[in-house]
Amino acid sequence: MADDAQHDPDETSRDAPGGGDGRRVRVLFPGQYGPAFDDGGPLLVVEAKEFFTGRPFHRAKAHLWLSALRHAVRAAGDRAEHVRVDTVREVLQGRDDLEVVDPPSRRLRHQVRHWGHGTRILPSRGFVTSESDFAAWADGRQRLLMGDFYESVRRREGLLMDGHDPVGGRFSHDDENRNPPPKGAAGLGLPDPRWPEEDDVDREVRAQLDAWEADGSVRFVGTDDRRRFAVTPDEARRALDDFVEVRLNDFGPFEDAMLGGDRTMAHSLLSVPMNLGVLDPRDVVDRVVAEFGQGNAPLSSTEGFVRQVVGWRDYVWHLYWHLGETYQTDHDALGARTPLPAWWRRLDVTDVRAECLRHTMEQVHDHGWVHHIERLMVLGNWALQRGYRPADLTDWFTDVFVDGTDWVMPANVVGMSQHADGGIVATKPYASGGRYIDRMSDHCARCPFDPTTRLGDDACPYTAGYWAFLARTEPLLRHNPRMRNALAGLGRLADLEDVVEQERERTSP
Ligand SMILES: Cc1cc2nc3c(=O)[nH]c(=O)nc-3n(C[C@H](O)[C@H](O)[C@H](O)COP(=O)(O)OP(=O)(O)OC[C@H]3O[C@@H](n4cnc5c(N)ncnc54)[C@H](O)[C@@H]3O)c2cc1C
Ligand code: SF4
Repeated sequence: MADDAQHDPDETSRDAPGGGDGRRVRVLFPGQYGPAFDDGGPLLVVEAKEFFTGRPFHRAKAHLWLSALRHAVRAAGDRAEHVRVDTVREVLQGRDDLEVVDPPSRRLRHQVRHWGHGTRILPSRGFVTSESDFAAWADGRQRLLMGDFYESVRRREGLLMDGHDPVGGRFSHDDENRNPPPKGAAGLGLPDPRWPEEDDVDREVRAQLDAWEADGSVRFVGTDDRRRFAVTPDEARRALDDFVEVRLNDFGPFEDAMLGGDRTMAHSLLSVPMNLGVLDPRDVVDRVVAEFGQGNAPLSSTEGFVRQVVGWRDYVWHLYWHLGETYQTDHDALGARTPLPAWWRRLDVTDVRAECLRHTMEQVHDHGWVHHIERLMVLGNWALQRGYRPADLTDWFTDVFVDGTDWVMPANVVGMSQHADGGIVATKPYASGGRYIDRMSDHCARCPFDPTTRLGDDACPYTAGYWAFLARTEPLLRHNPRMRNALAGLGRLADLEDVVEQERERTSP
């Protein structure tokens, strides 16, 4: 057992703290490091090496998740036992004094049920809608549309409601939240986010990751960034304050905008602490709605943000369970069979000239984070156009993003981004040419390609790739009414064959 010198088998015996007084010991798994998962009794915080082995993942992600774990151990003091093992099995097997909040991945749930025969399993936490409430909502529905789900949550929770009606007269203000970035600006002009301070736990974590990498037992991609996201409840509260005080007002209007000189724009940077379990999403939306109530935030930003958290975040979580294990592996509605290229796996932009893609991939390499529209319309759009295998792409996003988890990715990648599920999550593919990126960013001004050109040396690979994608998938999309206009455009392109050929031959973007 690698690293076994740090594990004393007696620590996991039946005499573990709390085991003898009839009180069960709460096991904490990844994603369960905050107050919502701790009811005040004894804790057993599992640091299993298998969380870090397997596919290579981003170094910054490994740091954040291990730092959260070790900070949780420290914060609980004498109540917590920190077990370092190779496998989860070693912790669960042979004990009948444990309990666990149902963990947030299929693999962990399977392990708990398989090895933890005497372990009590409590309903999952960390989301606004419970699994049983979602099941009741989904029961008998033909389509599980995010908009319908979101409306039901708003009504049930009384969020931004005025009696039976939504505040402002409608549930979505999405149409007010699509502004391009301010013309000529390098950034939104907001103060830098308040990044957390690293401490001695981070130094230990860094040394641990260096040691694992040096002995070859764990492999990483990307660079070792300073820690940029909250991993403790206190840090998360400060990050929420910072968002509400500095960026919330601009969140809505510039939600979809991209600027090369402004990495974070007005985004909240809260997915990491929420996914780590140190920040409760209900507290987040309550805080944002209170700010609106006091007249400090516009409705479009407030509603837009609430929709992301109680709508999208919860929705993709519930779909992960509802759609089952084969959703990620078996769906390929657009016949996407291209293996993920090596430069994607290595996050290597050496040969990439397309400015939007180069910039975005470089950010992923350096920080393991870019904001939503860069994930969807730069990375996802690129992969969709080139037909990267959806299951491989799902794994890739999970591994290289600091907020990547098993539950968050299938609906976002297979469904929303790649349309591989044929329309369960999104009514049409999120495909666009370079003109969209040009309107919503300042990248094209620094690019050797021209977003308005589809053929020739300066043909934008997104614009040409868009037409090549439509040409390839036309037989599969022609019955989708929302694609009618786009597909009608294909027939008007006299140079379509040349464009398709050009994109087939393109070796580096
Ligand atoms: C291809 C793709 C990959 C993604 N990968 C991840 C991921 O690994 N982890 C992750 O948490 N989110 C992921 N998302 C959703 C979203 O892009 C991120 O939650 C967001 O960019 C995180 O930055 P933020 O906290 O500043 O979010 P903000 O833009 O400030 O949004 C607020 C919060 O809303 C939630 N949210 C918004 N959209 C989604 C969504 N589609 N799914 C789930 N939660 C959402 C997040 O919790 C986020 O923190 C992905 C989306 C796409 C299209
Ligand atoms: S021209 Fe095309 S490749 Fe270049 S930045 Fe614009 S959209 Fe991206």
